[in-house]
Amino acid sequence: MFTLTAIAAGAAASSCTAPKGGEADFKYLIDEFADLQIIRYRIPGWENLSLQQKEYVYYLGEAAKWGRDIIWDQNCECNLRVRHAMEAIIRTHDASKDSSQQWSDFLVYAKRVFFSNGIHHHYAESKILPQCSRDFFASLLQEAGVQDESLLETIFNPDIYPEHIFTGEGDIVAASAVNFYEGVSKDEVNAFYEAMADPADPCPISYGLNSKLVKGSDGVIREIPWKVGGLYSPALEKICDCLEKAAAVAETPAQRQYIATLVEYYRTGDLRLWDKYNIEWVQDLDCTVDFVNGFVEDYDDPLGRKASWEGIVNVRDAEASERTAKMSANAQWFEDNAPMDSRFKKKEVKGVSAKVINVTTIAGDNYPATAIGINLPNADWIRRDYGSKSVTINNITQAYNFAAQERPKSLLSEFAYDGEEMERARKYLNITNDVHTDLHECLGHGSGQLLSGVPAGALREYSSTLEEARADIFGLYYMADPKLVELGILPDMEAYKAQYDNYIRNGIMTQFTRVELGRPNTEAHMQNRQLIAQWCYEKGRDANVIEKVSREGKTYFKINDYEALRGLFGQLLGELQRIKSEGDFAAGKALVQKYAVNIDPVLHKEVLQRYSSLGLKPYGGFVNPEIVPVVKRGKTVDYRIEYTDSFLQQMMDYGERYRTL
Ligand code: ZN
Repeated sequence: MFTLTAIAAGAAASSCTAPKGGEADFKYLIDEFADLQIIRYRIPGWENLSLQQKEYVYYLGEAAKWGRDIIWDQNCECNLRVRHAMEAIIRTHDASKDSSQQWSDFLVYAKRVFFSNGIHHHYAESKILPQCSRDFFASLLQEAGVQDESLLETIFNPDIYPEHIFTGEGDIVAASAVNFYEGVSKDEVNAFYEAMADPADPCPISYGLNSKLVKGSDGVIREIPWKVGGLYSPALEKICDCLEKAAAVAETPAQRQYIATLVEYYRTGDLRLWDKYNIEWVQDLDCTVDFVNGFVEDYDDPLGRKASWEGIVNVRDAEASERTAKMSANAQWFEDNAPMDSRFKKKEVKGVSAKVINVTTIAGDNYPATAIGINLPNADWIRRDYGSKSVTINNITQAYNFAAQERPKSLLSEFAYDGEEMERARKYLNITNDVHTDLHECLGHGSGQLLSGVPAGALREYSSTLEEARADIFGLYYMADPKLVELGILPDMEAYKAQYDNYIRNGIMTQFTRVELGRPNTEAHMQNRQLIAQWCYEKGRDANVIEKVSREGKTYFKINDYEALRGLFGQLLGELQRIKSEGDFAAGKALVQKYAVNIDPVLHKEVLQRYSSLGLKPYGGFVNPEIVPVVKRGKTVDYRIEYTDSFLQQMMDYGERYRTL
């Protein structure tokens, strides 16, 4: 039977964690500024955890939050200086006596920088510039006693660090503001690491993952590792300290073991230990409490090699995990029936684990903006030999949904073609979105195999986009399979149509509300969605599979033939799998460049105009609930959840409590 919807799960889970009053009193949306909305998430089922589990969650959460300064410094070398100055200003300036536009403009700038963990937009990559005047900012700095000659110029000059990650023509390493490289060119970086790599190694080390690459004044290129005793040592020492406290109250010996390995890795910087940790971690499938803590994703490196620091602590959502357990149990069926060349299929799909979680702390690169699904580890050979862990994050998705309901107008009401499409979305989208994310994470990424001899990094700068597209389209193809209804994962054969409507509408049109007019699409997940939607629109044009309709000056994309669209998804899945399996760089590059980068300027302008009339914010981020020890007679007897209602307050608190660098 099919019982789980996002709304029902949220309502059912809320009774034990309601901070004050019931569900009706809980406000999800707590702040809006610029293009951002700040949402609170809840922790369903907190009361069902044992004291020891809560303690474990607490220390893992502290270990996550202590890494905050690392991501700030990784994002750009000036970020911590800017943040410390803003914190000093907010502490010093008497806001109660200042109702000026200049001050509120300063606050918006500060909150935007807090949100992005630095001076660049977290999604668009471009530099954020203050709306208040330079003179006003200077007076605030003076009032706060901040003495930094170059700071104002760094903040206000648009030509200093213009792009977080530069993706245009030229040297993408030198032109990117990310703090992974110093004094080296793209070619020097590639040569440095190609000399290290052993192409014959079946278990290749992720060289460069946890270090900065610097050319010294002597002209020699050296790696400076991020480890205890290396770069970021003060933060990593605190992280290790909290991880060890967590290990002391871990649920199982397996958890103690991989935490010990992780700590050893942070202390030595030895990437073989990072692999060992991941192998131990990925095999621990039964735990209630789990976490991610480390230098994990390489999206922020223009060369896809250096990893941003992130932390997440989570608790299993028992009810929702049933859904993904069904997918996992049938993983081989999905692999065998996928529309791809049999040479590219795994003969035996291993360790496909999937579960639904609720986060208790998000941190580093995952805070305040966070993913709604995770699939780790990243090393292809570990995935091949040991499988991967896939999770979808239930309480974050719920919080997004609830926050959207706190608003009068929606993206759907503006961009859906007709009432039928809207009705279908209202009826099914909550669940089909979850199911698509599950398919993406627990089957999509894990499916397929590289032909022997094909190196894992063959697709280079296109690998993120192509890999996300492959996982997404695997999910789209199977959304329409009767197998999902048969397994009780989807309620009927209409449901998938809501997802198809939504995916095409978003990929070809509404997602561009997040891109400035005149700029190309640069973010990997957005590129993947555009690639899929645009490719299907063009390939299906002769048969009118997806119709571009113009009505009263407004554009709509209407799907005329859902079955045919599924066929196109299958075709593209086969091709994306071939590209990955064969390491066909040229074909991958051609697909991305033709379908995933350029945005039709006329449509883009229209979309932005229609969108701005709705008064919505395109990006969401979250504040963490506070996990507070309840101490009686010197002993911790419980941990209580407190929900903050101020984004700025949490930023200031974290700035004070977790400052290390
Ligand atoms: Zn993915």
